[in-house]
Amino acid sequence: MNSAAELVLTTEVELNQKSFLQKTRTKTVATVGPASSSREKLTQLISAGVDVFRLNMAHGGRPDHEAAIGNIRWASEQTQSPVGILVDLAGPKIRLGELGSNPLNLETGKQVTFIRGTETDQPNELVCLYLPLIDELSVGDEIVLADGIARLQAISRTADAVTCKIVDGGLIRSRQGVNLPGTNLSIPALGEVDRENAIWAVRQGVDFVSLSFVRNAREVNDLKNLLTKQNSHAITIAKIEKREALDNLDSIIQAADAIMVARGDLGVEIDIEKTPLAQKRIIRTCLHHRKPVIVATQMLESMHQTKRPTRAEVSDVANAILDGADACMLSGETAIGEYPVEAATMMQKIMIETEQMFQGRSSKITGHDQPTGWGVSDAVVYGSAQIARRIEAKIVVIATTCGEAALMKSKQRDFIPTICVTDSPQVYRRMSLYWGVVPVMVSEDMQADKIVSFVDTWAKTNAGAVSGDPIVIVCDTELLKGVHDTVMVTRVS
Ligand code: PGA
Repeated sequence: MNSAAELVLTTEVELNQKSFLQKTRTKTVATVGPASSSREKLTQLISAGVDVFRLNMAHGGRPDHEAAIGNIRWASEQTQSPVGILVDLAGPKIRLGELGSNPLNLETGKQVTFIRGTETDQPNELVCLYLPLIDELSVGDEIVLADGIARLQAISRTADAVTCKIVDGGLIRSRQGVNLPGTNLSIPALGEVDRENAIWAVRQGVDFVSLSFVRNAREVNDLKNLLTKQNSHAITIAKIEKREALDNLDSIIQAADAIMVARGDLGVEIDIEKTPLAQKRIIRTCLHHRKPVIVATQMLESMHQTKRPTRAEVSDVANAILDGADACMLSGETAIGEYPVEAATMMQKIMIETEQMFQGRSSKITGHDQPTGWGVSDAVVYGSAQIARRIEAKIVVIATTCGEAALMKSKQRDFIPTICVTDSPQVYRRMSLYWGVVPVMVSEDMQADKIVSFVDTWAKTNAGAVSGDPIVIVCDTELLKGVHDTVMVTRVS
């Protein structure tokens, strides 16, 4: 008998299996902005493969972001997808004040003077919204304007003015960014506005909070303490975009829960030609400390205006994946670009193709060492993948209450289809950033018999498993008194 109900069921099962078996291991973070904040666009972006949405506090007001959060939750529920929300705090981004002419053409070889105050009407003067700048600049310091459009060097100073030589001229505008690559600034990473925004983010129940222009581990800990005081479980992401951050990389990565390679500002703060190796070093250090890492900025930049990316952009995404990135991020492409959904779809296609490199490899990232200093959960998770490979298990299941074993599995970079089952909504959404794991929410208690029966049904419905197929299950919860990590092998009923 082939009833209509049966047909519908088959199609649904096929769809589930398609969405599970074709899911990319690398996660996609997409920035929300006017081009993507509607329910319709967010739903399309989730269907195109977006795992985490980023709200950039440097742009837009809180009401806009609140509306976007409401729409993301709606779209997440409609698509039944564990979408994470990341609030990106602007940090101490320094900006020009109101210039005498807008735009202002700075001519190479000429001089320009920073004066106190936030506005000027003189074309040979510059002003900055960061008022202590005049006091903190020294002769010889380099000043980069508007993401590298113009470069200055301080050549002389008085009590109230710093005169600079224009090393590289260009057209600049009021309120554009000011980077001071070699200057140690007193401005705190987590200023008053960032603190207020972090508290607001916690009240919105977001999953990730990132901090811009981090210089040391103490600044990450400040944010962590603030979140903890608010009883938040949101995880902290340190954006690496300062020279000082590269100097303190190990301690920052150890302090943060996850890292973002923020190549926009990094490419201004250090010589742009040094950013590829910096990216590789940051990713390798994250792998060593088992922290998720996002590669961000200009990944598919030309897709702001065109439907197809450049060859160089496609290679950039692929290389980030091969370097070991857990997630790739879209910025303006999805926030203000003309083709947000096309950009996310392109990202997926590049991921699918590139991830073939991982297929058949036994827990090895191309050209990279495995994490060292293994703990018990690492070893158990590693062993479970070995078992799964030997017995040709359909899937590996990680049952986790805190997400720890899921992160270990993610960092071991094997290609075995993996689901991570949890009863915690926070852990469920947090795993949206973990490479290679599909988060699954269970309403039941995490007890052995319940997990086994849940997985049995899930594997048949979503992974195409049939009676007799072996499944490997790892639990990082205490199923037996005193026994923490457990590996079980079951066969589909
Ligand atoms: P931004 O951060 O988008 O806030 O500038 C990312 C970067 O600097 O790359």
